[in-house]
Amino acid sequence: MSADLDRRARGRLRAALLLGVLAVATVVAGGCAGRRRGPVVAPPPVVVAPAPLPGSPAPTPADTLTPEAEPVLRRAEPVWLAIGLVSGKPRLELTVEGETELLGGEGARVLARLPAGAACVLEAGRGGVAWRGGGKNGVAAAPLLLRPVDPRHGLIWGDTPYGGEMRVLRPQSGLTLVNAVELEEYLRGVVPWEIGRPGEPGLAALEAQAVAARTYSLAHRGDRSNLGFDLWADVQDQVYHGRRGNDRWCDLAVANTRGLVLRHGGREIEAYYCSTCGGRTSDVHEVWPREARPYLVSVADGPPDSSWCRGSPLFRWEKSWSAADLERVLQRTLPEYLQWLSASPARRDWAGEGFAPARSGADARRPGRLRGLEIAERTSCGRIARLDIRTDAGVYRIRGDRVRWVLVPVEGRFSILESASFDLTVDKGRDGALRRVSVAGRGFGHGVGLCQHGALAMARAGHGFREILAHYYPGARLEAVGAP
Ligand SMILES: [Zn+2]
Repeated sequence: MSADLDRRARGRLRAALLLGVLAVATVVAGGCAGRRRGPVVAPPPVVVAPAPLPGSPAPTPADTLTPEAEPVLRRAEPVWLAIGLVSGKPRLELTVEGETELLGGEGARVLARLPAGAACVLEAGRGGVAWRGGGKNGVAAAPLLLRPVDPRHGLIWGDTPYGGEMRVLRPQSGLTLVNAVELEEYLRGVVPWEIGRPGEPGLAALEAQAVAARTYSLAHRGDRSNLGFDLWADVQDQVYHGRRGNDRWCDLAVANTRGLVLRHGGREIEAYYCSTCGGRTSDVHEVWPREARPYLVSVADGPPDSSWCRGSPLFRWEKSWSAADLERVLQRTLPEYLQWLSASPARRDWAGEGFAPARSGADARRPGRLRGLEIAERTSCGRIARLDIRTDAGVYRIRGDRVRWVLVPVEGRFSILESASFDLTVDKGRDGALRRVSVAGRGFGHGVGLCQHGALAMARAGHGFREILAHYYPGARLEAVGAP
């Protein structure tokens, strides 16, 4: 217990440092268009030797709930993350599980002590944040901090308890709620929401997912620093629901891989992952305007016709539109694509010219009648590299994964197309007029990096998490956080 308290005290110091740095970063980066790369806090000191390469024998499969991680890893310094839960709220209400301090002045001044079960209400005001709780009230300059006296107690926002501490920021509009949480606790709140709860048979996939999510967190730490935190708690980064829905096998997977990340060339890799690759993963630079990475190249997900992810409900899918429906969709999505393209020179360099007018003065913002669609180019993994859509206004050239934001379904569960891996059928009437457009697709998601359904199938077939990671991130090394 004393060791835990000691670790916790150091964690708090780190959190205080982190939050202090964030406050400065918010001011410095506020007017900057470029996203800050690199960590907000320096990585913790080197404390462990590199772990074995991927592909080497996996640790003993867990048949009990005893963490299998190397003991030395458990002594690693805690790494804290600042997770953005919500922003732009005029009012926030939190409930405390145990006695909790409400702090102002960068954590230096106790404003109130809230007893177990008490509510704390915070409102955006002109002079800062109006607060009430623990029988007191006042107005204080942001940021405000809620810190449980006993770190085992959570802070409840909505119906979700969160570990760690809460920080309330007051940007120009409304309030931002940030959960400052230790990396490993954060991962326990990510893994079940990102890959599900497959239980013991899927443990190796959960372990691979935990390593990928840990790596992603560190590689992207600080990406949102202009907003005052590290990562969003939703699909913009990784879905995180605090302690709600924690699962013992997911917890075990996080514990078994504690402190392990994937690295290449001395830094954490961009460990993207998706639901179902559909038979082949993507090469990152073919689907997104990003640099090629040796560990994010296209790999076959098993032998032809027996891909690891073939059990996914979205391994194969179909969609179709009447010409009128698709025409209506495209009036919105084609101009949106051109807008997306013009937002950054890197996008245009990667995608090329997005529109060729049919005649001088044609308005790209008004596509008009749909005349035809054609797959002009495919990627090495068979996804759409370029789709040409011909309308009265001209030809729109849609590049890579963005095609999913253009050919959006008119009904169904998803607001964008399942994947950019598909075959296209265009039906025309005798008069040559377009009648129906159908696609027969493969997979769900961008296809870059780890395929979650594939990883689950590999786990059930007896492969360890090291083999799974080596399969989906070829050439990346499994190392400890902070290793040189
Ligand atoms: Zn797959």
